[in-house]
Amino acid sequence: MTRVNPGGTIGILGGGQLGRMLALAAANLGYRCHIFCPEENSPAFQVADTTTVASYTNEEALIDFAQSVDVATYEFENVPGNTADTVSAHTLLRPGARALTVTQDRLTEKQFLNDAGVETAPYQAFHTADELEAAFKTIGRPSVAKTRRFGYDGKGQQLIKTPKDLELVLDVTQNMPAILEGFIPFDREISVIVARSASGDVAAYPVGENVHTNHILDTTDVPAAVSDRIEATAKVLATKVANALDYIGVMGVEMFVTDSTGQIIVNEIAPRVHNSGHWTMDGAHTSQFEQHIRAICDLPLGDTQARGKVRMKNLLGEDILNLDEFLEDPTASVHHYGKSDPRPGRKMGHVTWVKTE
Ligand code: AMP
Repeated sequence: MTRVNPGGTIGILGGGQLGRMLALAAANLGYRCHIFCPEENSPAFQVADTTTVASYTNEEALIDFAQSVDVATYEFENVPGNTADTVSAHTLLRPGARALTVTQDRLTEKQFLNDAGVETAPYQAFHTADELEAAFKTIGRPSVAKTRRFGYDGKGQQLIKTPKDLELVLDVTQNMPAILEGFIPFDREISVIVARSASGDVAAYPVGENVHTNHILDTTDVPAAVSDRIEATAKVLATKVANALDYIGVMGVEMFVTDSTGQIIVNEIAPRVHNSGHWTMDGAHTSQFEQHIRAICDLPLGDTQARGKVRMKNLLGEDILNLDEFLEDPTASVHHYGKSDPRPGRKMGHVTWVKTE
């Protein structure tokens, strides 16, 4: 039996805001959560039934954690492979380890997408200076160099517009395996939050339009200002990705819409609930967090419709100090992640506005 009923315990690897919002949604459905995270005082600990503070390489702690839960999941994609293997040897791990191996490396991710018939930016792998030169001959400029692993929020990336930019690449990639990808002159960035349950049912949310500032998500608007054709195609692509991975849970699929032809190019997939899906907490019939819990527990998936026009704005760093401005706005739904140190760029909370008329 793959269904986990309310009353059961869900294990979450990672104790950040995503783990926190998953635990809150799980509690609403009658589940308990056990959070495993190396950092003390993690945001998710404040709302969880049980917590373990231990390293992701602590096998004994991982086994105890896995044996204490009915199903385990994760809130970040860089869960080490050995950690996933240990947990999945002792409990159900959803999404499974394959979603992690495919998405942890930009090269395997792009190969997987292309094999599934999903278009990406053109790319070529490189490591050494000679390989970079060869990749540059093929891809040309403008292009973007990115480390294959552990890059996020623009870290480990170098945009190449001029010959001088090319000289910076190996400093930025720091001798780590990397890819060079063609720069896509996009008109808009969109994303699809899609859920696939343990029974194989799939439900995609309306497409969100994302604006990034300094490589960090600033706002998401729903509906996206795209044609019905783009809206439908984006959802089909996300569904294709979830099915091809035999995925269980919620994932975020980030895409570029190009200006000239309205073509969709997939940039990245995140095997977890996604920042660009936070609008669903107040703006959709079922939040992405509840949907993830439903999917991994093999409950029926919830309705993904938007309740109206929705805008989500991230509160980064010291934005959180202006909380009263949002608390005094009767149309704003405020989410504070319970973090105390507002470092620049740190995700401290978000605000959502829903217009239903
Ligand atoms: P990533 O880390 O791949 O999500 O990239 C972060 C952001 O950089 C994206 O959201 C885009 O705004 C920009 N970007 C990344 N790759 C490309 C590309 N190939 N073409 C154009 N913009 C890109």
